[in-house]
Amino acid sequence: MTRVRIPPSPTGLLHIGTVRTALYNYLFAKQNGGKMVFRIEDTDKERSTKEFEDDIVNGLVKLGIAGDEGVHIPGDKGYRQSERTDVYTADLKKLLDEDKAYFCGCTKERLEEMRNEQRAKKLAPRYDGECADKKLTEGVIRLRIPADRGDIKWNDLVRGETIIHAKELDDFVIARGIDDPLYHLTVVADDHDMEISHIIRGEDHISNTPKQILLFEALGWEPPEFAHLPLILNEDKSKLSKRKNKVSIDDYLAEGYLPEALLNFLALLGWNTPDEQEIFSLDELAEKFTLDRVHKGGAVFDVKKLDWINGEYIKNMIAKDVDGFYEMAKVFIVGNVPTEDEALIKKILQDPDFEGRFKKLSDIPEGLAPLFSELPDYSMDLIAREKFQITPEMLKDVMNKAIEVVNGMDWEKGDSNQNQKISDAFVGIVGELGLKNGQVLWPIRVALSGLERSPNFATLAVYLGKEEVLKRLQAALEKIG
Ligand code: GLU
Repeated sequence: MTRVRIPPSPTGLLHIGTVRTALYNYLFAKQNGGKMVFRIEDTDKERSTKEFEDDIVNGLVKLGIAGDEGVHIPGDKGYRQSERTDVYTADLKKLLDEDKAYFCGCTKERLEEMRNEQRAKKLAPRYDGECADKKLTEGVIRLRIPADRGDIKWNDLVRGETIIHAKELDDFVIARGIDDPLYHLTVVADDHDMEISHIIRGEDHISNTPKQILLFEALGWEPPEFAHLPLILNEDKSKLSKRKNKVSIDDYLAEGYLPEALLNFLALLGWNTPDEQEIFSLDELAEKFTLDRVHKGGAVFDVKKLDWINGEYIKNMIAKDVDGFYEMAKVFIVGNVPTEDEALIKKILQDPDFEGRFKKLSDIPEGLAPLFSELPDYSMDLIAREKFQITPEMLKDVMNKAIEVVNGMDWEKGDSNQNQKISDAFVGIVGELGLKNGQVLWPIRVALSGLERSPNFATLAVYLGKEEVLKRLQAALEKIG
């Protein structure tokens, strides 16, 4: 049976990289009719906190990829390393009894001196085995690597045959004491006890894999299969970092990225289909995902692509179920858009002129504001934009004509069916005055919005209503003087 796991350490908020690893494990389990275990690696007591654990657990649950067993299932026990200390102590005793591990009493100073000597001789620093045969009964515990072990190989399901040369490894520390196990021991014990068949994790763990294989062997257990996922990179190809990108999933959700869109984006961060499909539901991903199409090279975190994918999800959701969309987006809208008219907001969201304008839910208030807000003060430079070569006379003619045109029309505020009619009427001014498009339509749009960027003039007019449009055109006329 396929059994995979996601074992985050609760030493920070839920990280984008953890979500991608969880997602790939989730997809792999689902596809193979297997199970995914969600456990918490909290052996590092100083850096682990309950707050971080809650954030990670809630986040994966919210995203729907927390798996089948583990810390997130009410009542389940034994999925936190802090709940399993007895198991680790028993494993350590077994290794010591069988002489596969030994206590080491070397002081920091001695180890430092040893390393300096090795460096001076241009050798890689490694433990020299000083305590290997001393039969000490306290100190840190080191794994004894069999002298004849040879190179360590595994067939990585992403990277292919991988070899680590025996000389690169030394008798590494697996516990600070009999009751104080370290990561390599706990992870191996957990993976064995939880019957994990495949370890799918980030490439940053490659150097851990040979050590863990040695531990599996020392404990007399069969190691699982390994697959190492490519690193996630900043745009400049450095390793994804807080300084250059937001890395906590909470930040993305708070900005109005949709969980489904984030998962879709993360699925493509290191994997693709042969036909380069970009938009997938989670079920579709589970059907199409394969480890052999996971890339070996690093995956650049492209925010523009995330925005595009998120925009597509927003667009599709509005088209399919505007009420459901509004419910979800409400926290971003209510209080931030200067109207409480829910029906009107839904109408605007469905207006073709707004289609694809919202990349994130947090874009909505800004996009809708010009339709409701007081007219912001704007400059003559803006309305008479230089590149259109607009003279004050032209501006006056345009505004007067626009007022005349609007006076001759009627439309119900918010009726987007009138958009074309209004648009045609304003465009008609261009020919009538013998001017260029930009010389007419730019100043009208600025007169209506006061902004450098806004929805187009006809859409503004529809939602502002006839009266307000006349007021704003008049104001422009006065401003021109
Ligand atoms: N606890 C480790 C981490 O958060 C994961 C270890 C593993 O996947 O083996 O990076």
